[in-house]
Amino acid sequence: MLSYRHSYHAGNFADVLKHLVQVSVLDHLLLKDKPFVVHDTHGGAGVYEVASEHMQKTGEYQEGIARLYGASTGLPAINRYLNLVGRFSRPGGLSHYPGSPAISAALLRDQDRLQVTELHSTDAALLEAHFRGDRRVRVYKQDAWAGVKALLPAAHKRGLVLVDPSYELSGDDRATVAGVREAVKRFNTGCFVVWYPMLQRRRADYLARGLMGLADKHLRVELNVLNDGAARGMTGSGLVVLNPPWTLAGQMEEALPFLHGKLSQGGGGYRLESDAGVLLEHAAR
Ligand code: SAM
Repeated sequence: MLSYRHSYHAGNFADVLKHLVQVSVLDHLLLKDKPFVVHDTHGGAGVYEVASEHMQKTGEYQEGIARLYGASTGLPAINRYLNLVGRFSRPGGLSHYPGSPAISAALLRDQDRLQVTELHSTDAALLEAHFRGDRRVRVYKQDAWAGVKALLPAAHKRGLVLVDPSYELSGDDRATVAGVREAVKRFNTGCFVVWYPMLQRRRADYLARGLMGLADKHLRVELNVLNDGAARGMTGSGLVVLNPPWTLAGQMEEALPFLHGKLSQGGGGYRLESDAGVLLEHAAR
């Protein structure tokens, strides 16, 4: 029984980093006319209303997107992400926050495709309703890892696989590494973006190293808003990107100090590591 609902967490600091990287990878894919596929393994509900009971109950978005919304940052990648988020809101302020499938669909062209798996019955139904009539998008109420086997390799050789588990069960870290290994085997021309939470440093490092070992070319992007262990829940989050676009490291080198400045809750730091070694590291004192 799944209890996680992304509607409580939409637009939090982890979503900001994840969706910034997602938009940057999609922008790179959009540079060529050739079609591409986005495979989103854990889709969530699609679009989230800021005034909803769930978003208001946790208020997590207040320490995420609300700290950046409407800003013009001088950083093209962040501006592009913020502009895209703004397309979902009514004039005058942040009214809706897009989830990963909505972000992909907003950038897809006619020739591109989005395939999404989501296991939670309510969220899968919401997602399906959101995309009804959009012939570029297919939603499957299916387990993520069964979906990897059923839907990859995709119809096109270029693409992004976004892996964003809720890490609810004790075996989820191991299942994620195994699932991504399978996905890479099936779609080795794709770019893979895999999210992980910072709950305990050793656990996050172990998971990230396991993921980085799945492709020669990789990037690890991590943003922590609190020092390790300073809270019971997440103190930060990161992404392992396999086969990253060559532009991504430079964009993240600029973005991470800016995001930490905006999103820090009084500690934390950031780290950028590629297959060539550590590119950037900062720990707040
Ligand atoms: N990717 C979404 C976004 O960025 O907007 C958020 C996804 S949320 C972090 C994780 C989602 O995974 C939840 O909606 C949950 O219901 C779903 N989920 C959990 N276990 C799953 C599984 N085994 N297969 C597919 N979806 C699953």
